[in-house]
Amino acid sequence: MKTPHIVVVGSSNTDMVVKSQRIPAPGETVTGGQFVMAAGGKGANQAVAAARLGAHVTFVARVGTDVFGDQAVVGYEDEGIDTGLILRDAEHHTGVALILVDDQGENLISVASGANHALTVADVDRAAHRIREADLLMLQLECPLEVVRHAARLAAQAGVAVVLDPAPAPDGPLEEGLLRDATYLTPNESEAQRLTGIAVSDEASAQAAAQKLLAAGARNVIVTLGAKGAVVACGGACQTVPSFSVEAKDSTAAGDAFNGGLAVALAQGKPLAEAVRYASMVGALSVTRMGAQPSLPTADEVRKFAEVAGRGA
Ligand code: ADP
Repeated sequence: MKTPHIVVVGSSNTDMVVKSQRIPAPGETVTGGQFVMAAGGKGANQAVAAARLGAHVTFVARVGTDVFGDQAVVGYEDEGIDTGLILRDAEHHTGVALILVDDQGENLISVASGANHALTVADVDRAAHRIREADLLMLQLECPLEVVRHAARLAAQAGVAVVLDPAPAPDGPLEEGLLRDATYLTPNESEAQRLTGIAVSDEASAQAAAQKLLAAGARNVIVTLGAKGAVVACGGACQTVPSFSVEAKDSTAAGDAFNGGLAVALAQGKPLAEAVRYASMVGALSVTRMGAQPSLPTADEVRKFAEVAGRGA
């Protein structure tokens, strides 16, 4: 099978996680925590997910000229990602997420987007030739909406498929033009709810939300429902793709893993239902491991998972 080329335009963050017995109240100091630093950001997670699954990935992003930016770029290169279009921004720091986690797994997250919010339409234009020759473009909503809109338009005009993960959840509906340019829209429950105003908690409500998104201009909608699987809606018809039963340890980045799997399978030419099944395996595997990027499986791991379960991948 030919190696698919996927372009990701999106965010790159450094996640700094302190795990302690409890989360401090405002003004309070809690000592005795453990510290972990890891590469994150939805764009980066999805770029790494797709690269581990065998795609040739070009990542278009901005990081600072600080040490976190240095580490991020080295990390992406180690994953085999093409970093030639990652801009080093001297005026903005690398995006940072400060995460506090307590013993119960409850968390508190504060994000300083930094260079991610300085990504521009001109940055996308610099990547235009790569987007036009790609098999697929992946987008999320962690960089300015005008950038997402412009990248989606560019891909749509060139006939390149677009997977848009509307995460983090936008404040309200997305405009019709963006919905039309995104070949595949992949909200989770809370994102589907924000986009449609429909409370999404199960298959029926996910189908209702998906239908509303189709009516608003979306072309193919995949609502992910965690362990409940995913609802796929296109051309008026809906089907539910069940999840794979696993022992879940940490659901961080399940959506990013799912999107990476979906994008790679679609870029390889698989039909949508089959691509969603593959994405579900990638998502399931990711929840069996701790962390964001460390939990993202390789193509071989997915193949073995499929073989063991007699599912075929
Ligand atoms: P997000 O991380 O964006 O909230 P979801 O939690 O909906 O995304 O997960 C995305 C996909 O990952 C699901 O549709 C499913 O295929 C898979 N997945 C997530 N959680 C589990 C789980 N506990 N068991 C099996 N598969 C899961």
